[in-house]
Amino acid sequence: APPAEKFEYQAEVNRLMDLIVHSLYSNKEVFLRELVSNASDALDKLRYLSVTDPDLLKDGPELDIRIQTDKDNGIITITDSGIGMTRQELVDSLGTIASSGTAKFLKTLKESQEANVDSNLIGQFGVGFYSAFLVSDKVAVSTKSPKSEKQYVWEAEAESNSYTIREEKDPEKLIPRGTRLTLYLKRDDKGFAHPERIQKLLKNYSQFVSFPIYTWQEKGFTKEVEVDEDPAEVKTGGDGEPKKEVKKKTKTVVEKYWDWELTNETQPIWLRTPKEVSTEEYNEFYKKTFNEYLDPLASSHFTTEGEVEFRSILYVPATKKEDITDRKTKNIRLYVKRVFISDDFDGELFPRYLSFVKGVVDSNDLPLNVSREILQESRIVRIMRKRLVRKAFDMILGISCSENRDDYEAFWENYGKFLKLGCMEDKENHKRIAPLLRFFSSQSNEELISLDEYVESMKPEQKAIYYIAGDSLSSAKNAPFLEKLNEMGYEVLLLIDPMDEVSLTNLNSYKDKSFVDISKEDLDLGDKNEEREKEMKQEYSQTCDWIKKRLGERVARVDVSNRLSSSPCVLVAAKFGWSANMERLMRAQSI
Ligand code: ADP
Ligand code: MG
Repeated sequence: APPAEKFEYQAEVNRLMDLIVHSLYSNKEVFLRELVSNASDALDKLRYLSVTDPDLLKDGPELDIRIQTDKDNGIITITDSGIGMTRQELVDSLGTIASSGTAKFLKTLKESQEANVDSNLIGQFGVGFYSAFLVSDKVAVSTKSPKSEKQYVWEAEAESNSYTIREEKDPEKLIPRGTRLTLYLKRDDKGFAHPERIQKLLKNYSQFVSFPIYTWQEKGFTKEVEVDEDPAEVKTGGDGEPKKEVKKKTKTVVEKYWDWELTNETQPIWLRTPKEVSTEEYNEFYKKTFNEYLDPLASSHFTTEGEVEFRSILYVPATKKEDITDRKTKNIRLYVKRVFISDDFDGELFPRYLSFVKGVVDSNDLPLNVSREILQESRIVRIMRKRLVRKAFDMILGISCSENRDDYEAFWENYGKFLKLGCMEDKENHKRIAPLLRFFSSQSNEELISLDEYVESMKPEQKAIYYIAGDSLSSAKNAPFLEKLNEMGYEVLLLIDPMDEVSLTNLNSYKDKSFVDISKEDLDLGDKNEEREKEMKQEYSQTCDWIKKRLGERVARVDVSNRLSSSPCVLVAAKFGWSANMERLMRAQSI
């Protein structure tokens, strides 16, 4: 046989391995979650490809995961009948950082700059395949791709920065298709090779894997056997002679044997009746599927029938999504008739401004070989998209109506800017977005209010929704423009986020009340006294001329007005010009 060939890891993998082997001591059991999820991914890939190429299943129709433990030697084997890897794929996948979760993990570590790694991090992110080394001294991956005639073995030790690849020659170790991982456990971690321990961990970690997981378990059954009565108990006859007949008696014995036992339930949670699924189950499914560590803020499970049939569970995460423009979110997992298709189609199923929503969508109407092009053209997808968006809004509205104000505050803090983006990008849903917006107000103390709350407390004669933009809460609150409105008891929205003003301008009005910027020159509060104004203008016209001369080009006009109550003067923006805030925004963008 050709000798094993030696390869060096990519530098990042070395760093990660070093960390895994030397710094992470708790949460080690996540290795099982990671490896089972890889097995499940490999089965998903095979099932998906076999739809168009049934030949791929010729080496065995079974799609399952089997886990065997050898507690005496501290060995665990995890075998899947999935897509397997060719020799090249082994090199590409298990010597570099493939998982985006792992990359994120490394980045977070770098940012936190902590020598003492929070071991919870690994539970939150998962480090993919390399987590095998949390518990193993040595790992072997023996794998057979349907694309390759040969089976290859990848092998590495924990304390090494290289691995080897060789061909599998041992006929006893050949598998028809898929991948078998063998973990040689560290001395202190041999306890994981206990069949009951593995079963318990699997119940905890893998209850939502949609392929059967079998574990090799010792079983027993009882049976009655006839045995000779104990000679010591055989009574002697009156004459001292042993009785001739040997009595028989029955005895219960336990017969032991080993067999595969199904450990998980494989019906996908979204196929179940919503009434019968508990909140805990929805939350668990979410955390397992999306590798999240916090419960979601809300979830929604629904089925649509009729014109277009699909099932879905959607979630609003409690964790912040940083980058509003990031389209590679992999937040929506698309299934067609239970077959996982892709998590790459978020953009086709949701508008950009709702890209923080996570979930699964299972359609009965799309073809299994669905592509981005098909999705973009499909009338079915257009209808699905509409329904999904509506459900997402219902879910968010649900949070905003919850008893617990903190929940919506958390939501707004995380995703407020996404909804503001929605004001710009989705006119059709303005009615759904507007009630979800929140602003600071001149009449509330640092507390955000909704437009409904604003409208409710409007004065009877008040015509419009007033706002003023500023670059901080205190500068907006202290703007001279507010004096008059405060005196009249009119509430004013204080827009301190640059996107606030743009979103209101896009909305145009709310409940038939238009939005009015109180810093614009034509502000009409319905309290004009034209006689008196004329007199004042005349009386002060020379003063105004004098000031205009002094200020020159810096202002367009100097005027007398009734807008202030105690401040002597104020700078106003032209009716059709930009507000001071917009000017700031534009200036910031042109830099
Ligand atoms: P991720 O699963 O996020 O891609 P991992 O580090 O867990 O990252 O796995 C790296 C890659 O190794 C996978 O993307 C896959 O290509 C390959 N791989 C791992 N386990 C298996 C397996 N059981 N069968 C086939 N390929 C696998
Ligand atoms: Mg993985």
